[in-house]
Amino acid sequence: MTASLVTASIDAQSIATASYIVAALLFILSLAGLSRHESARQGVAFGIAGMAIALAATIGVATEHAETVAIVLLVIAVVIGAAIGLWRARVVEMTGMPELIALLHSFVGLAAVLVGWSGYFSVEDNAGQTEVIGSLLDIHHAEVFIGIFIGAVTFTGSIVAYLKLSARIKSAPLTLPGKNYLNLGALAAFVVLTVFFVISPSLPLLIAVTVLALALGWHLVASIGGGDMPVVVSMLNSYSGWAAAASGFLLNNDLLIVTGALVGSSGAYLSYIMCEAMNRSFISVIAGGFGIEAPASADTDYGEHREIDAVSAAELLTEASSVIITPGYGMAVAQAQYPVAELTRQLRERGIEVRFGVHPVAGRLPGHMNVLLAEAKVPYDIVLEMDEINDDFAETDVVLVIGANDTVNPATEDPSSPIAGMPVLRVWEARNVIVFKRSMASGYAGVQNPLFFRENTQMLFGDAKTKVDEIVAALAAARVPA
Ligand code: NDP
Repeated sequence: MTASLVTASIDAQSIATASYIVAALLFILSLAGLSRHESARQGVAFGIAGMAIALAATIGVATEHAETVAIVLLVIAVVIGAAIGLWRARVVEMTGMPELIALLHSFVGLAAVLVGWSGYFSVEDNAGQTEVIGSLLDIHHAEVFIGIFIGAVTFTGSIVAYLKLSARIKSAPLTLPGKNYLNLGALAAFVVLTVFFVISPSLPLLIAVTVLALALGWHLVASIGGGDMPVVVSMLNSYSGWAAAASGFLLNNDLLIVTGALVGSSGAYLSYIMCEAMNRSFISVIAGGFGIEAPASADTDYGEHREIDAVSAAELLTEASSVIITPGYGMAVAQAQYPVAELTRQLRERGIEVRFGVHPVAGRLPGHMNVLLAEAKVPYDIVLEMDEINDDFAETDVVLVIGANDTVNPATEDPSSPIAGMPVLRVWEARNVIVFKRSMASGYAGVQNPLFFRENTQMLFGDAKTKVDEIVAALAAARVPA
């Protein structure tokens, strides 16, 4: 190799390394930006810039080492991936985001499995050169094995999460006999297989760990019930980060290691915060519902419910001096945030105090309600978190529960309930509660809601957007001309 070629190669590698550092910093800034409403857009911009730099640097390095055909294939793959990504991002509904995210995590898991397998074969195919690697070979084998394990768990776990979130399979937890021992046994088998593989790597062991991890991922997430799915999505996010970091070690790519660790640790921290908010044991959820027994199915008869129409609801609202709106998944489905914002404006114009109470897992992804309300230009200062508003319900005249169900369910106070102990918005303490939904059906966790049968609750059946529109129209009709 001539001196100029060596210099060119070193330069390309140094530029790539410098670019990776810049990209890693941009990813950190992106995470920091995404942690607040006001800076979220900026956070996304940093993330896009970081990813663009990372892609350009990777293609730059590849042009130094790979053949033209490989580069062309790489660019074609990036273009196809970007086109599909742009299309999905444009058409996906906000309510479909968690399942899309779960599906994307499955791709990261699958990629880690493929990288692991390819890492194994590339070393086996170059057996003559393995002496050069010497003692590093054991580390390489461990990386291959661990990477495949984390990737395969993430892959099937994410597929099950996708199927549950998109209601293609039931969200109720799978409770196989001795399920905790199955999970622990699979982990123990993984440790034993890893030791054998590092000592004497072989294809059958690689196949065994792949099958074991695929089955474990499936079982871990299948064992988790509907109410805990938000935590599972962020937990899989974390797993996908660790899978990417494992691939980074195999591919000798520093940026992939850093980015994977960022995703892995931030996902784990988010899962922890969500577990705290839902009064769930973090260990129990990440261990596939470890220690949670199947809840007894409660077919309690709560009595009769009462109904109200939009005109009477409008009258009740005009007589109120304080109103709290607690939105949930149904508001997102109905796209009722715009008439809700208009209703808020009209009530405030009449001198009525209106505030929003947002539960941390209302809707189908963290921050779902905040995004919708911001989109409809509801002022930030009247949108309060659950803990900020929970003590105020007792002093409130009317609560409008718009498409929320699990997040306002008093059954959480019943120890035998599957959602026992989960903190909820205590709407039932208000003088009047109006629940907007289309039927008496249960919410995402599949648990009946005794709120609907309380003395002070009235059901307003129908599509939330149509019903809020009707109330807004009734208020406008009742307005006294100036
Ligand atoms: P729920 O999913 O418990 O209930 C939503 C209610 O909205 C349903 O009872 C449904 O009743 C009603 N609804 C649906 N469509 C309409 C419509 N067009 N008009 C009026 N009402 C409608 O909602 P919550 O927000 O209270 O709770 C969220 C649940 O989702 C929790 O169990 C949470 O654990 C889970 N989850 C949350 C995630 C997150 O990160 N936020 C992620 C994944 C799951 P009906 O059919 O009778 O109309």
